[in-house]
Amino acid sequence: MADYYKILGVPRNASDEEIKSAFRKLALKYHPDRNQGNKEAENKFKEINEAYAALSDPQKRKLYDAYGEDALKGQGAGGPGGFGGFGGFSQQGDMNDIFGDVFENFFGSTSGRGRTSSRRRGADLKYKTEISLEDAFNGAKVQVNYKKNDTCPSCGGSGAQNKSSVKKCPTCGGRGRVQYSQGFFSFTQTCPTCSGSGEVISNPCKECGGSGIVEKNASINVKIPQGVEDGSVLRVAHAGDAGEKGSPAGDLYIEIAIKHHPHFERDSQDLIYELPLDMPSAALGCEAEVPVIDGGRIKIKIPEGAQYGKILRVSQRGMPYPNSRRRGDLLVRLKVETPTDLTAEQRDLLRKLADSIKEHKEKENSGFFRKIFN
Ligand SMILES: [Zn+2]
Ligand SMILES: [Zn+2]
Repeated sequence: MADYYKILGVPRNASDEEIKSAFRKLALKYHPDRNQGNKEAENKFKEINEAYAALSDPQKRKLYDAYGEDALKGQGAGGPGGFGGFGGFSQQGDMNDIFGDVFENFFGSTSGRGRTSSRRRGADLKYKTEISLEDAFNGAKVQVNYKKNDTCPSCGGSGAQNKSSVKKCPTCGGRGRVQYSQGFFSFTQTCPTCSGSGEVISNPCKECGGSGIVEKNASINVKIPQGVEDGSVLRVAHAGDAGEKGSPAGDLYIEIAIKHHPHFERDSQDLIYELPLDMPSAALGCEAEVPVIDGGRIKIKIPEGAQYGKILRVSQRGMPYPNSRRRGDLLVRLKVETPTDLTAEQRDLLRKLADSIKEHKEKENSGFFRKIFN
């Protein structure tokens, strides 16, 4: 007959604290992780667990003191089940407590425990907002309306109807993690009952159903900086979904889309304006008016003989560079138009012009050939 007191090396009148402390020391010494392949340590570890399971429970200890180990058989106090019994061991809150402590000390930070890590930060949210090119030029304040998960105002995010309905999780004893074994290996995992929070709620909050989170319509004013580019993303820290039970909120990302402008195309900080120009004006040169993003129009000079597609650069009339007084340029691209729907008179004039051009060319060519052949 096994003597549980001897196994743990404590006197028969040992206090609960002494039993606990003796068990911790021995369990650490004989744990299979530290004695891989050592059969003797394995048996010893089994014995220690059995002894502790019996002596740490006041009722079982009383039975054991009075009737010996046989009185405990079939009570789930370890017994011949050995490591099989050990498998169910995490369900016993008290044992789990001790193991949690032991391994925390033993493995230090590598065990990765900690309740904070199991409470999740709120999700990041992404929204798109459309602004005009003028807004991008001037900078703007834009109101973004969106939906987000927020802390429940009724329970303050606890998920409980009142304080007394928050209880320590019975599965993990409030640790947020449980330990289980497979063969000689033991693992810790997030407690399935409380998802790692260490708490269970007997009366969930009626408004949020216990999640501590409600969906709400949110709105935020964001300042769009001057010169912002299409597709730029602004980050608003902590304006995303609320975190679980007091952990930090996620961020809100706002993508800026710039609406198509009737006059201007954009190339980084330069603006492109396409200027329609009739053929004679392009040939003779002229003054033309072009719109500017600042509002209004400016006059520009079209040089004589301007070709289709020619680009005239108006310095510093494009978009502003962010955080700078510098601006891009306005590029005026000439779109010389061939006249259509001519009147008889215009047709006549054009024919005369065509003849004149032809005559002039022939004269030039004959001069050219004379130069070559003489
Ligand atoms: Zn609530
Ligand atoms: Zn739990």
